[in-house]
Amino acid sequence: MYPAPFNYHRPATLDDALGLLAKLRDDANVLAGGQSLIPMLKLRLGDTDEIIDIGRLPNLAHIEQRGDTLHIGALARHADIAASDIAGQIPLLQECAGGIADKQVRNMGTIGGGVSIADPSGDWPCALQTLGASVVCTSARGQRSVTVEDLILDSYTTSLAPDEIITEVQVPMPPANSGSAYVAFKRAAPCYPTATAGVLITMADGKCVQVRLAIGGAGSTPVRSAEAEAVLRDSDMSEDTLAQAADIIVSSSSPPPDARGSEEFKRAMLRSLVIEAAERSVARSRGASVTGGHRYA
Ligand SMILES: Cc1cc2nc3c(=O)[nH]c(=O)nc-3n(C[C@H](O)[C@H](O)[C@H](O)COP(=O)(O)OP(=O)(O)OC[C@H]3O[C@@H](n4cnc5c(N)ncnc54)[C@H](O)[C@@H]3O)c2cc1C
Repeated sequence: MYPAPFNYHRPATLDDALGLLAKLRDDANVLAGGQSLIPMLKLRLGDTDEIIDIGRLPNLAHIEQRGDTLHIGALARHADIAASDIAGQIPLLQECAGGIADKQVRNMGTIGGGVSIADPSGDWPCALQTLGASVVCTSARGQRSVTVEDLILDSYTTSLAPDEIITEVQVPMPPANSGSAYVAFKRAAPCYPTATAGVLITMADGKCVQVRLAIGGAGSTPVRSAEAEAVLRDSDMSEDTLAQAADIIVSSSSPPPDARGSEEFKRAMLRSLVIEAAERSVARSRGASVTGGHRYA
């Protein structure tokens, strides 16, 4: 199906894009990699009068470490992040980026688009919440920083104002003796994941001193659980403790039954993904070189 007609704008600079967005506001949609927006327009799941194509704006695709923060431009492609040695310092990032869809989608889709679309099955919201990441929201009025947790309000709903563009994702670099992992269960590579889990831990003297867990495909937004994290904190991350934490975080989720599986199936899958991601994270915190990847049906 063809999308409904729209006006197409390709501004040359970020300032021009922000000026246009300030003027057109609710009538406009930003286009980055087009891997979610174009299919949605073609399927008539949405329409728009004005498209502002930011996909080729300069200076928005960087992947750089400055001090203890990783700065990722909103237009960095999934494939760029998967191939980046700088991003590879945080294995979770590469596991997320490298497991999205197939090569074609990864070569076009951007991290900014992946977080702004707030798809409840999307990988970036869960992965970035695990890492405690923030996004920089830029408008003609200025800039503000918001955590990914506060950005994602509901399915396909964010706290972005109509005149704002996400220009950068900022990820705190985990301290020494940290390990992270991101695991998804997918029916096939080009499909969205059925369920996902991200874990970031820091160990000292055999005990977990910092931990963040998030699960995706588990409700309308990624789910975190302070109670599950409290069980892991100060523990030695034994098999029993991991199982207990996994049970707690899964019990606070509500995975929707759909063509990808029943609620019961998804709960069982989420539990096992949390345990796998946590075990991989513990091994990495000890310096082990653990290769990861997703699970495919
Ligand atoms: C076959 C297929 C399989 C896929 N599988 C997966 C998968 O397994 N996991 C997964 O996570 N995703 C998957 N995707 C989605 C893909 O990752 C998209 O690239 C991503 O969701 C959106 O990024 P984009 O750059 O293409 O955004 P676009 O499609 O260009 O835009 C998406 C939305 O975000 C807004 N937007 C884009 N960039 C910005 C910005 N910088 N600031 C503000 N708003 C912005 C747009 O206005 C639009 O509403 C799949 C897509 C396809 C077609």
